[in-house]
Amino acid sequence: MQKVVHLLIVCFFAVASLQAQRALDTIDTEVGKIVLYSNKTWSFLQVSTFDGIMNPRIHQEMLAQDPSFKHPWSNDVCFTSRNDMSKLKDTIWLCVNNESDQNFNMPAPGIVTSRYGPRNGRNHNGIDIDLETGDTVYAAWSGKVRYAKYNDGGFGNLVIIRHPNGLETLYAHLSKFLVYPDQDIVAGEPIGLGGNTGHSYGSHLHFEVRFYDVPMNPEEVIDFEAKAIKNENLFVHKGLFRPGAKPSDYYEDHPTEVIQAPVVVRTPQVRYYKVRPGDTLTEIAARNGTTVSHLCQLNGIKPTSVLQVGRSIRVK
Ligand SMILES: [Zn+2]
Repeated sequence: MQKVVHLLIVCFFAVASLQAQRALDTIDTEVGKIVLYSNKTWSFLQVSTFDGIMNPRIHQEMLAQDPSFKHPWSNDVCFTSRNDMSKLKDTIWLCVNNESDQNFNMPAPGIVTSRYGPRNGRNHNGIDIDLETGDTVYAAWSGKVRYAKYNDGGFGNLVIIRHPNGLETLYAHLSKFLVYPDQDIVAGEPIGLGGNTGHSYGSHLHFEVRFYDVPMNPEEVIDFEAKAIKNENLFVHKGLFRPGAKPSDYYEDHPTEVIQAPVVVRTPQVRYYKVRPGDTLTEIAARNGTTVSHLCQLNGIKPTSVLQVGRSIRVK
């Protein structure tokens, strides 16, 4: 009996330690310790020491421009900092493709339906690509998933990937996620399925390119017709960002996707009545469910006007 109890205790500790291990496995990577969880929540992978800086050279150059530039890491907010690009004094050179990696891949193959720039009195901070709900959306470049969850500021199901060169790409209105936060991703990997979630009227991909949290025209980097990058090099300077834009302009989470519903013009119901012998305005008004003053208003006449037989007067 004692042996059985002993065995049970051993089994209990073995199972308990296995479960504890399953919940707290760690992997050492270049960016720090990654804690692995076995549950199915979005905190599947949690990087304990990663601070968001994927390229120290570029970050140092940014700090040399202005010490206020920040590039922290967050899985919860769409913008992690309020960088003011007018503080860029020099031009910073970025490699668009990373030599050690897969190169650029189109996020979706469809046609561009709306470009970056002013739209409906606000700025459209990205580019819209046509797709069908369920079509695969791909990572444009390799990087690390910073954000993958529903965004109630208008983006709907949203994935943001941070790339080693300081750029971030943003994929909005998805119908399904195929990635989770903190996941490392290779260019061309499926990251979600296209959809119509959030402020979107019709399935499409809203795609943004940001540098240090500030959106730029994606066409500065990508030729959407040739489906290729424009140049291996990107020269980042303050002119690349919307001139005169205050940092605060960017931080309302994307309320720009609302397309005005078509205005339905109702044709007023018009009806005429042909005056018969003996008719009076009072009788005509009563017969047509209106008033004498309304008839006078519609026809530009007075209550005392003589009605000529055969004349058509408007009653509605
Ligand atoms: Zn858009």
